[in-house]
Amino acid sequence: METMLSSEDLTYREECRSYALRELASIRDKYGEVNEVPQELRKSMGEAGLFRYLIPREYGGYGVCALRICLAREVLAGVYCPADVTLAMQGLGSYPIVLGGTEEQKSKYLPGVVAGDILTTFALTEPNAGSDVSNLETVAVEMKDGYALTGKKRFISNGYSSNMAVIFAKTPSEENPRSISAFVVEKGTPGFEVEKRLDLMASHDIVSLRLDSALIPKENLLGKIGTGFKLAMGTLDLMRMTVGAAAVGMGQTALEEALSYAPERVQFGVPIAKQQGIMFKLADMATELEAARLLVYRAAIKKDNDALDVTLAASMAKLYATEAAWRTIDQAVQIHGGVGVIKGSTVERLYREIRPLRIYEGTSEIQKLVIARFLQKK
Ligand SMILES: Cc1cc2nc3c(=O)[nH]c(=O)nc-3n(C[C@H](O)[C@H](O)[C@H](O)COP(=O)(O)OP(=O)(O)OC[C@H]3O[C@@H](n4cnc5c(N)ncnc54)[C@H](O)[C@@H]3O)c2cc1C
Repeated sequence: METMLSSEDLTYREECRSYALRELASIRDKYGEVNEVPQELRKSMGEAGLFRYLIPREYGGYGVCALRICLAREVLAGVYCPADVTLAMQGLGSYPIVLGGTEEQKSKYLPGVVAGDILTTFALTEPNAGSDVSNLETVAVEMKDGYALTGKKRFISNGYSSNMAVIFAKTPSEENPRSISAFVVEKGTPGFEVEKRLDLMASHDIVSLRLDSALIPKENLLGKIGTGFKLAMGTLDLMRMTVGAAAVGMGQTALEEALSYAPERVQFGVPIAKQQGIMFKLADMATELEAARLLVYRAAIKKDNDALDVTLAASMAKLYATEAAWRTIDQAVQIHGGVGVIKGSTVERLYREIRPLRIYEGTSEIQKLVIARFLQKK
C-alpha cells in the first residue's frame, strides 16, 4: 500500500496525525459530541492548513488534491468526527465554486474557506429528492434583480454553523424543463433560514433549510443556467472516495482498540487474543481495512490524474470502504463484549459514527447502481 504513496504523501499523513493527536484530541475532550462546529475547531483547522488541498493555489490553497484530502480525512475521522465532517463540507461547498465560479466568486469565497473564516455547505437533498436528486422541487425564478429561490432542503451538514451554502434548484425553461442550477446563498439572506435542527444518533451539525422567495443576486449563480447537476456530480466525483477514507480511519481506530483490549482481557484462563475465533476476527478486520484503503487511494490517484473511470473507482471505494469499516467496527464492539456497548467508550462512539457513511453522498445501493451502469455503458 505504501508504494502508492510518495514520501511527501506519507509525511503529510504523519503531519495530519500529529496535529490530530495534539490539537483535535484536546478539542474533542473539551467539547465532546456536538451539533454545531465549535469556533475553536474551525479556527484550529484553518490555522493548521487542513483546508488547503481543497482550493487552487491562486486562492490561498495548495491546489485541489483528492489523495491529500483522503489522507487527512482518514486521520481526522479516526480521532474526531466533527473535524472530519467539517473538512468534507468545506470541500463539498467550495468545489462547485472551483469548478463553475467566476473569478469574482472565487476571490470572494475561496480564501475564506481556506482560512476557516467561512464555513460552507452543500445543499442538494430535499424531502422528496434523496437518492433521486433529479426530482428537486426547490425552484429558482429569474427576477429583474436576481433569482428568487423557494423550497426546502433536508439533511444539510454543518448547515447550522455555515456562513453560506451552495444550493441546487430547478430552473426550468421551454428548451430544458429539467434544468438545475447552482447558487451561492449567504447566511442572513432574507427568506433563507434554518427550519429545523436534526438530532442524529452521533455527533453532527445537520439541519433542514427553508427558502421562501429568498432573493439571490444574479452574480451568485454558479456557472451557466442549467449546469447545476453537472457541478453537483463533478463535486461528488471528488468527495465520494474521501467518504471511504473517513470510514477507513474510523475502522482503523476500532481495530487498534480491539488489538489493545484483546491481549488484556482474560477469560477461560487465557487472554481472548489467544483464542483462534478472536484471531480470525482481527485478521479479517485488518485485511478488509487494507483492501478498502487501497481502493480509496486508487480512486483518489485516478481523480488527481483525470482518469475517465473516476466515477466508477470512487463509487467502488465509497461502497467497499464504508461497508468494510462498518463490519470492522461491529467486530471491535463484539471483541470488547459488554464493555463495547458502554456509552462513551471509543468503539461504542465509532459504532454510531460510522452508520451515516453508508447513507450520505449516495447510499450503498446507489453506489451499486452507479457501478453497474458504468460497467454496462457502451
Ligand atoms: C448524516 C448525513 C449527512 C448528510 N449531509 C448532506 C449534505 O450535507 N447535503 C446534502 O445535500 N445531503 C446530505 N445528506 C443526504 C444524503 O445524501 C441522503 O440521505 C441520501 O442520498 C439518501 O437519501 P434519502 O435519505 O432521502 O433516502 P431515500 O432516497 O429515500 O432511500 C431510502 C432507501 O431506499 C434505497 N433506494 C432508493 N432508491 C433506490 C434504487 N433506485 N434502488 C435501490 N435502492 C434504492 C436507498 O438506498 C435507501 O436504502 C446527508 C445525510 C445524512 C444521513
